[in-house]
Amino acid sequence: MNYTVIGGGVGCARFVKGLREHVRRAGQGGRIDVVVNTADDWWVSGLRIAPDHDSLLYALAGVNDAERGWGRAGETERVSAELAVWGTAPDWFTLGDLDLGTHIARTAWLREGLSVSEVYRRLGARWDLGVTLHPATDSEIDTHVLLADRDPVHFQEWWVRHRAQLPATGFAQRGIERAAISPGARDAVARADVVLIAPSNPVVSVGPVLAVPGMRQALAGTPAPVVGVSGIISGAVVRGMADACLAAIGVETSAEAVARHYGARSAGGLLDGWLVDESDGDAVAPLRDEGIAARAVPLWMRDPDTSARLAQDALELASTLR
Ligand code: GDP
Ligand code: CA
Repeated sequence: MNYTVIGGGVGCARFVKGLREHVRRAGQGGRIDVVVNTADDWWVSGLRIAPDHDSLLYALAGVNDAERGWGRAGETERVSAELAVWGTAPDWFTLGDLDLGTHIARTAWLREGLSVSEVYRRLGARWDLGVTLHPATDSEIDTHVLLADRDPVHFQEWWVRHRAQLPATGFAQRGIERAAISPGARDAVARADVVLIAPSNPVVSVGPVLAVPGMRQALAGTPAPVVGVSGIISGAVVRGMADACLAAIGVETSAEAVARHYGARSAGGLLDGWLVDESDGDAVAPLRDEGIAARAVPLWMRDPDTSARLAQDALELASTLR
């Protein structure tokens, strides 16, 4: 079986770890590809930073800081302190020393002319991930946040510096018109037996992946079922500030509204199936009426068991579709 996951960041990483665990326990083998959001990426102190990719890389390699929720375990911040003194990095954006090693390697390879896809391959080769990561696109498509009363700012400035508190009116990916789906992402969708939409931020993690020219067509055309998992439980985010992103685009923070935002594949949207939490069981019937096979299961990923169980539930739902 070929499993292709779409997402980016910590919610995606938890889900993919669960899927990897489930596939290992089931013992039937299988290939896991992840199509990763690149629109959070940006330049700091001359270095290319790729937060969603690196969250996945570190979590799958088991070198992430699970307590803090981002970055490498056992970090120090000596270099960042120097950069702040030099004034080359904003004082609201700290990078760990080990993490900076990743950014330096990535930037060196990009400057040698390697594609983002090739850089992913090199970074992933260091550990036995059991999962292949692909950028949604090889082009730069950084997200900018449109603000009510001033010029747009880069997503990282809005998210990290302003904690998503500046009233936003929308999001735009600079350069998206010229971008194209990466070959690895295209192949991963084409070979998929199941496509899984991770419980990632629907607006700034999954949204930019779907916005890459060619991606929607690839997903619409696959014979594989497309099943999503809600990152919203009981009308609230599990972690992070996805509610601020949803509010900016006029979507209610609920599992039902996010499913409707993605849309039923039978009506030109994304989803065949959708998992909501047990506490959101009320959403199941109305979504089914609209062509989305919804099911209510426990959505909290607390540990390897609950994460693997969630992946199994998503695959069981997929097996009833198409
Ligand atoms: P980021 O880019 O690092 O913010 O990560 P993602 O976009 O991949 O994921 C953020 C989303 O993951 C948030 O909207 C969370 O609500 C969701 N999330 C985090 N942990 C869990 C969990 O245990 N269960 C579910 N269903 N969603 C989760
Ligand atoms: Ca993200």
